[in-house]
Amino acid sequence: MTVSSAAFIPEKIAKLKEYVPVEADVPVKLDSNENPYPMPEPLRARLCEIAGTLEYNRYPDPYARELVGKFAKVYGVKPERVVAGCGSDEVLHLLCQALIYDGAAVATAPPDFSMYAFYAYLEGGRVITSSRGADGRIDFCELARLAKSDGCRCVMFSNPCNPTGAVATRDEMLDFVRNAGCPVVVDEAYGEFSGREYSVLDMAGELPNLIVLKTLSKAFGLAGLRVGFAVAHEDIVRAVKKVKSPYNLNAFSQAAGAAALEYAGEIFALAEKIGKAAKELYKKLHALSLQGGYEAIEPGANFVLLKFFDAADAERVHAELLRRGISVRLLGGALRITCGTDAENEKFYAEFERIIKGGITNERGKAGEGDARD
Ligand code: PMP
Repeated sequence: MTVSSAAFIPEKIAKLKEYVPVEADVPVKLDSNENPYPMPEPLRARLCEIAGTLEYNRYPDPYARELVGKFAKVYGVKPERVVAGCGSDEVLHLLCQALIYDGAAVATAPPDFSMYAFYAYLEGGRVITSSRGADGRIDFCELARLAKSDGCRCVMFSNPCNPTGAVATRDEMLDFVRNAGCPVVVDEAYGEFSGREYSVLDMAGELPNLIVLKTLSKAFGLAGLRVGFAVAHEDIVRAVKKVKSPYNLNAFSQAAGAAALEYAGEIFALAEKIGKAAKELYKKLHALSLQGGYEAIEPGANFVLLKFFDAADAERVHAELLRRGISVRLLGGALRITCGTDAENEKFYAEFERIIKGGITNERGKAGEGDARD
């Protein structure tokens, strides 16, 4: 008897779609919310030196203590409240493993980073959703109702939000967390672009149910190293350490991440510059919005979301930009444009304006926008 290998895959996994990354090979890549600038030259030299001196025959530190210590110092948190992982993506998955069980409800506010719902689903969670306003902001009253509803075990949202770019204020978030009655994960992957006044990182663990996610992939420009963190009360950190694989973060990423954190001052200044450039880009795109048939959302991060009134227009503009060597992210009826270098932004805007003024968009209707996976 021959059995197909596919028959071994449980239905829950079989019905998942594989992740298809954007792999546009074009000169201007504004599709993945990466930092467009190369790392400081002395840091690059330091990473080469580290690569040549590590003992690769040995397992790495299971708790990444040097890296965690540097992170805690730079961000002003207690090291015992920090756990590191292979990107904030892995940390998020570990949190879901530690907090969620079959049938537990997990509240999200789409459009948001789609991995919240994905990992919740993998752990048997039931995802419940709250809405956002037209400006992309979370409706915290509605989210609070969900948080307090039967069986809700966790709330997750990004701030600044990927893909809307909208930011919630510190007071809004802290009020919400204080009353939520369950763990709240605030993902501050893009926090360095908006500034510390929108951050609740200092309260992670002070409030027993607040967990903040951080990453070196965005402002630090080290997406390829895969280094992320959760900051939370010691009890939650201990639970995450129990479920993680012992050597989740490799030796090079640990050492390189620790070295990169020594350049935090320089990197935070660059992130501020990128955040300002994203706001400038938004202003220009907003000025063109009536003609373009879209609404631009004011960003608190390093990207701008354009919600087209007709989804077909978003597709046409996306395809036309690609033809001209510029890749942006198409998310349902919206385009998410990552802020690039000044030269990349100018090139993008010039081509975008030409496309809009050339009349690429036409029929008007209503479009939704999708969640973002990176
Ligand atoms: N959170 C948000 C909001 C993101 O947009 C991303 C990736 N783009 C991540 C987390 C994951 O980042 P990483 O795994 O690279 O740390």
